[in-house]
Formats: sequence, C-alpha cells, structure tokens
Amino acid sequence: MHSIPMESSSCYTKRLSRGCRLCRKGTKMVLLVTGKCGESCYYCPLSEAKKGKDVVYANELLVREDDDMIGEAVAIGARGTGITGGDPLMVMDRTVRYIRLLKERFGPGHHIHLYTATVDREKFLRLQEAGLDELRIHPPIERWNALEELRIAEAVEDLHMMVGFEVPAVPGELEGLLSICRHAADIGLDFVNLNELEVSETNCQALLGRGFHVRSDVSSAMQGSMEISWQVMEEAGDIIPVHFCSSSFKDQVQLRERLKRRAKRTARPMDLITSEGMVLLGVIETDDLEEAVRSLEEQDVPPELFKLDEKRKRLEVAAWVLEDLAAVLPFRCYLVEEYPTADRLEVERQPLN
Ligand code: SF4
Repeated sequence: MHSIPMESSSCYTKRLSRGCRLCRKGTKMVLLVTGKCGESCYYCPLSEAKKGKDVVYANELLVREDDDMIGEAVAIGARGTGITGGDPLMVMDRTVRYIRLLKERFGPGHHIHLYTATVDREKFLRLQEAGLDELRIHPPIERWNALEELRIAEAVEDLHMMVGFEVPAVPGELEGLLSICRHAADIGLDFVNLNELEVSETNCQALLGRGFHVRSDVSSAMQGSMEISWQVMEEAGDIIPVHFCSSSFKDQVQLRERLKRRAKRTARPMDLITSEGMVLLGVIETDDLEEAVRSLEEQDVPPELFKLDEKRKRLEVAAWVLEDLAAVLPFRCYLVEEYPTADRLEVERQPLN
C-alpha cells in the first residue's frame, strides 16, 4: 500500500495515532519515569545518564519533585505527554501517580501515551483506570517471530484505550517486522509504529558490531532502516495503520516545534528568539559580577534587560545591549546561542570584545 508522506521522510498508511499527531506539533512532553528496564535490547538508544538508572526526566529537565514536571509541561504548553523509560511498568505506582497528576492538572483532554516492553493485563487495566489514552507495546526483537507466546491478545482484550506496537525498523528483519504487523492486525490492535534505527553513545558498539552503518556522517540513522519500513508498508500497510517515524523528523519537526513553543512561552524581555526557536543572549563573565551589574546600572541599562545568573556565574544581558557596550566594558563579553530548554544547552558563543 502506498504511504502518505510527512515532513523529513516520515510517512504512514491509513491514519496516524493521536499521540503521533500531537507529537508532530511539538505539543507533547516526553516524561521518562525511570531508566530501569527488564529487557536488554542490543539496539536500546537510552543515554548513559538514564540507562538502568532510576531517574525521572521531563524533556531535558531532571525531575526532583512533581512541580518540576508540571512546570515543564506549562513551559511548553503541553497538550499531551509521552511516558517512556526504560520501562515505565517497572515503577508502576510512580507511573500511575504521574498519569493521575497530569490528568488532574491539565484535564482529561491532556493526551497520554505510554511505551512499555511489559505484557501484563493487570497493569494495563490500572493504567487505563488512571486515564492512559494510548498504550504502545514493544515486543523485544527475539520474540518478533513468536508473538503468540507473549499472549498479548488476552492482555489487551476489551481495553478501551488505543493499543499498538512500537518497534525499531531493524534492517534485515523484514520477516519479523511483517510478523509484528500481521499479529497486530489479527488481534485487533490500532497501529504499528516503526522508529528509524538510530545510533547512540550506548548502542554504537552493538550496532556497528552487527555490521550496520550510519546513513551519513551527519546522521545518526542507520542505513536500510527507512527502506525496510517502506517495504513493510508496501506489504502490510493495508492490514494495519503503519507509521514510520524518521530520526530527522524527531530533530527537525518534533524537537524544533517544541523548542519554538518553549522559547515563545518562556522568553524574557532580554531574550532574542531565532526562527529555529533558539535563544540569543549577551553574557558577561567575570570574577566580580557585582561590579559588572554596577557598570550596567551606570550605563542606564533598564533592569529588565540584564539578570545575574548565580548558578552559572554569569551576567545575562540583552544581546543588542551588550553588542553596543562590549567595547567599553572591562569584562569578557560574549554573544551566546542556547537551547530554550531547562538545561539551557549552549551551542555557540562569539566573543564581543
Ligand atoms: S525495551 Fe526499550 S527501554 Fe527496554 S532495553 Fe529494550 S529498547 Fe531499551
């Protein structure tokens, strides 16, 4: 069946799940509820900071208390949340609590999908009762040709939330991927999501050791993953909605849209926002930040156009102000470009004096 093209080489047959439609607009928060998982898939892309660790992240923010997570959802104007891991079902009480909290705070229309490698009817029922809207099951690759053994049909019988499979499109695994689609259709699931296989710091050895290659020097996608997804859609896209989500779609569409939303909502009067959703800012670095503040006051810079950042030991100044003043200030001055994310990751700096 012919697929319907999306941005950045992503595509789908029939229809997209609601979770994916919201993700496409950058309106979903990614909530990693734990890095722990009972499986050990060789292709698992989870970073070193998260893999096997019992940590919680809301997008890039390390969550220490519930308000951190709620604050991040507000900052991006989230209309939904994707709960992921590790395996969220390893920390069932926490996961259920977060689902309830999000629904209470943002209303029943806040769409929540969840990814898991666990097949457990009791847990699925608890999630559904808490308000989960969409369940995405990831059968580990060694079970793709023996899916009946997982007894997924019994586990999802009569659930009223949407249920689908979500797996990486592993090159060379056409039979397994077709088996995933056929089984999904046989047991009445709603969709199959295929993620483009990506290399990361943690799965690099395992992927390269299996003879996989990256698509190009500037891509983390593996060669052949997109092509095998096309084949799967061609052969099975008419029996079940199949969605291929490319690696570049995640960066160029989902992430960029989310950054733009966050930048727009969190920008201060001193922040300049680029068309890509990045923040442009002037930064003064000196051992005597108090003195730098006094200098700006002497130059009659309005107080809303500069701010002391104690944590990062720097004075932030509106870019256009610092560009004008840098030549007469006895401090190191820079023009800095940063992500508008909670961790404010710096991507570029240019000295101004
Ligand atoms: S099930 Fe998912 S999170 Fe767990 S090891 Fe496999 S890819 Fe990683």
